[in-house]
Parts: sequence; structure tokens; C-alpha cells
Amino acid sequence: MRLVTFSQGEKVALGRVEGEEIIPLPPQFGSMMDLIIRWPQVRKQVAETAGRPISLGSVHLLPPLPRPGKILAIGLNYADHVRETGAAMPERQIWFCKQPTAANGPNDPIVLPKASTKVDYEAELVVVIGQGGRAIAREDARASVFGYCAGSDVSARDWQMATSQSMLGKSFDTHAPFGPWITTADESPDPHTLGVRCFVNGDKRQDSNTANLVFNVWDQIAHVSQVMTLEPGDLIYTGTPGGVGMGMKPPVYLKGGDLVRVEIDRLGAIEAFCRKEE
Ligand code: ZN
Repeated sequence: MRLVTFSQGEKVALGRVEGEEIIPLPPQFGSMMDLIIRWPQVRKQVAETAGRPISLGSVHLLPPLPRPGKILAIGLNYADHVRETGAAMPERQIWFCKQPTAANGPNDPIVLPKASTKVDYEAELVVVIGQGGRAIAREDARASVFGYCAGSDVSARDWQMATSQSMLGKSFDTHAPFGPWITTADESPDPHTLGVRCFVNGDKRQDSNTANLVFNVWDQIAHVSQVMTLEPGDLIYTGTPGGVGMGMKPPVYLKGGDLVRVEIDRLGAIEAFCRKEE
């Protein structure tokens, strides 16, 4: 199933996407977070809900999960991206956080803040945690996932590189766009076969496949859950392939008016303009 959070005027609702239409879910289902927590109990009802379809094009898509839990992200996780940064191939997984306040809708403007002149895109597969847990074994990791989205780990490189900790450079408001909907895990049994692409103003900058992840999704879940409990509605940004603006010679960063599109096979595309902060 493909699940969205959308607004029409003042009204916010959940829906199931079918082709170019949304079947709205009645308010009794609550928020996307409620749906994720109660998924085993409500899955069948959600699948069977009938209602008057609304055209996808007539609504405003919100982040599918407007206020995620933790947003965890792994760095240097595709070999070609490791090479373009000049870093050594990591022997251990490199983790950082993006703050939940960075969550942004799939088509909402990416703000280029006054405080940064080096904002960059990173096309990534985003994992939405379902039941989660702690010390999850690699072979059980699949069962802890609710679904998948396309996302961009937008990065203010000047802030990211200014200190040894990436968190501030990765956490500007609007810099965690994801969506356009959550494709539930039962429809993507293997998340390691998906093409990942990024376009800036129609120019293809990144083109890879999740088969090329250095540490795959199951490795990632097993590793971080040794440390912290993964909870329903946490997000994992799983790393970006080569082709980021920072790796170009000379580097090219995002400008006001640039249109950034991230698409992932079978999960859909997010696309938004960059807007300079006033
Ligand atoms: Zn990233």
C-alpha cells in the first residue's frame, strides 16, 4: 500500500494512493504515527476502506509522517560517493542525526538559509521503522520496517565540514524532505534492488541502485539497534551515491529557483524548488 498525509484547505487527512488518486481514510485512523503503531490491527481495514477518490494533483502532500521520531542517517555508504569525497572506505558504519524539525513535504520548498552558502542534495532511500525494537538481529531486521520513501539528505556543507560532528550541517529546517508517500514494506520485500536518481533542473546528477549500498538496510538496523531502541515512526536515511554537488569540479551548490528531483524505483519521486531565505 502507498500511504499519504495530505491537506486540502485546513483539513489534514490520511489516504491510500491508487494510481493518480487518493482514497481518503476516515479520521478514526488518527495520524500516520497512530497508523504505524497500530498497523498489525488496522492493516486490513485500511486496505479495504472505500471512499470517494480525490485526484492526487488537487491536494497538498505533507511529509507522510509530519513529525517523525528520530531521524538517523548513515554517511559514506556508496563506494562512488566515498571516492568523490576523498575519504577512506569506512570499516565501521558512520552515523549522525538529522533533527525531526527538518522534516519537509515532498513538494515543499527547500530553504537555502542565510547562514549557509553551500547547500547540497543527497538522494537517499528512507526507511520508516514500524515495530522497531532493540538489539535486532540482521535476519529479523526486515520485520522491524514499516515502509520506504524517497528522500534527500539535504546538507549545508559549510556547517557540516566546520566541525567533526555533522549534526548541525544536516539539520536545517526543511532539509529532510521525504515522500511522496510511504510504500509499505510488504510491497517492497527487498529494498536492495531499487534505482536511485537525482536531477537538478532536469540534469541527472546521481544515478545508482540500492544494490550498491556498502552497509545494507539490514546491517544498518542491526548496528544502530545495538545502541538505541528503534521506535515506530523513526526514519533512517540510508546513504547517498556519488554525484553530489560537493564532488563536482569545481563544486556546485544549490541556488534559489533550482528544482531538485529525487526518484526511487517503485517508491515514487519527490520534487521541490529551492528558495533563498529572506
Ligand atoms: Zn546522506
